[in-house]
Amino acid sequence: MKSVAIIGGGITGLTAAFNLQQRGVPVTLYEGSERVGGVIRTVHKDGYLAECGPNTILETSPLIGQLIRDVDLESRQLYTDPAAEKRFLVRNKKLIELPVSPLAFIGSRLFSWRAKASLLAEPCRKRAAGDLEENLADFVRRRLGVEFLDYAINPFVAGVYAGDPERLSVKHAFAKLYDLEQRYGSLIGGQIFGARERKRRGAISKQNAKKISFDKGLQVLTDRLGEKLGEQVRLNHSVKRITGDPEGWSIDFENAGITTTSTHSSVLLALPAFRLADLEIHCQNKRVDLSLLSQIEYPPVTSVVLGFRSQDVSHPLDGFGVLIPEVEKFNSLGSIFSSALFPNRCPDGHLTFTSYIGGTRSPELALKEKDEIVRLIMEDLRVLVGLSGEPTYTHCFCWPRAIPQYNVGYGKFKMLMEETEKRAAGLFIGGHCRDGISLGDSILSGYNAADRIGKCLDLK
Ligand SMILES: Cc1cc2nc3c(=O)[nH]c(=O)nc-3n(C[C@H](O)[C@H](O)[C@H](O)COP(=O)(O)OP(=O)(O)OC[C@H]3O[C@@H](n4cnc5c(N)ncnc54)[C@H](O)[C@@H]3O)c2cc1C
Repeated sequence: MKSVAIIGGGITGLTAAFNLQQRGVPVTLYEGSERVGGVIRTVHKDGYLAECGPNTILETSPLIGQLIRDVDLESRQLYTDPAAEKRFLVRNKKLIELPVSPLAFIGSRLFSWRAKASLLAEPCRKRAAGDLEENLADFVRRRLGVEFLDYAINPFVAGVYAGDPERLSVKHAFAKLYDLEQRYGSLIGGQIFGARERKRRGAISKQNAKKISFDKGLQVLTDRLGEKLGEQVRLNHSVKRITGDPEGWSIDFENAGITTTSTHSSVLLALPAFRLADLEIHCQNKRVDLSLLSQIEYPPVTSVVLGFRSQDVSHPLDGFGVLIPEVEKFNSLGSIFSSALFPNRCPDGHLTFTSYIGGTRSPELALKEKDEIVRLIMEDLRVLVGLSGEPTYTHCFCWPRAIPQYNVGYGKFKMLMEETEKRAAGLFIGGHCRDGISLGDSILSGYNAADRIGKCLDLK
């Protein structure tokens, strides 16, 4: 039976490997570090649970639930507390609830009357020419107005991409928004008419999707996938070079300073763009050059988990968290009210936040010393949630290259990955730099890659 090499043991590679294994295909997963999970990393200490990377999976596709069932984790899966549905934004240094119904929108203090009135005209505004690649900020200014850009889209983009709406491509980073305008001529109209089609496809909109974690954090899922793959996982195997010829693909990997080669019929690369760019790839004696991918921007982000005594915070923390518009001039991008979302994230009588600092907004702040970062976050929390005491727990984790920015011009990177797959038979590329940055996107990317590999191997 033909074997498949999966390179990269983040959620994308693990999902693809597990799915192929379920279909009876021999797989070997090569992971360069000492653990699987990639950016999913949960730390347990002093009664606190800290997520260093992602916090929740948005259940936007039935395949996410299927994966959780298939690895027998249904009983350990948690949905966020329904009492923590509110999302807060900041205006004039105060937390204001994001309105989610037309009535709440009309009554909200988040937007001026002029901004609200201008939204009514959105369905009448002309759609952009299909061939224009617009940045998100121009798109929002044109369709919704500058106040929506400053107080809704800018903080939202900071929360998802840690990115800059002036540079992110609406077509590549927010393809669904782009499609709504192209297909329905209006975002509001598209939301209404698109709901029926989403229902037919079984897709769930991001606003309505449930948010998932596990009793001991997100790493439960990647640890379990690693366990299911068992001996097929090769940790500390950093792949350096891959070579394709009519017989298959040779993988050169380094383990404990020694380079060894193994051969497989197909290879899936499930790596960050900056690692793809470094790989030496040859196919039929020709170089496959992915060095262009090193131009994809990955700004640094530091996640900061802080614990406090409950009485030291005056805000009720009755929501998911707070996102901060750049115009409000705080240090951080936003904070998740982690202990309001899931049980057992901190000791009794305490609460915990997960805050993010850096991104394209202020990359230099993510790289400061830990004590200075904690000071900056506490400065924000004092104003935003009425924090008074000192932390009972602190955990910082810096991602020097956190999240790929799907900026204007991203199409050339996607095209390079697609063309490479077409030209180099048996070589596949998946993951967050090709198929979308969320965990849901990465899980679907793993499933889709497994399907493409299955077709190539002629699996039923
Ligand atoms: C701080 C942060 C917060 C986030 N929050 C959320 C969130 O709340 N919700 C959400 O949906 N998404 C979130 N995301 C995004 C999401 O977590 C990622 O997009 C997703 O996990 C990417 O998975 P991946 O498998 O594609 O890549 P990765 O997780 O980057 O995995 C790639 C793997 O490849 C390995 N590797 C690299 N080079 C080699 C080599 N040469 N040989 C072998 N192995 C190699 C790496 O060690 C790594 O394990 C967040 C991301 C970050 C950084």
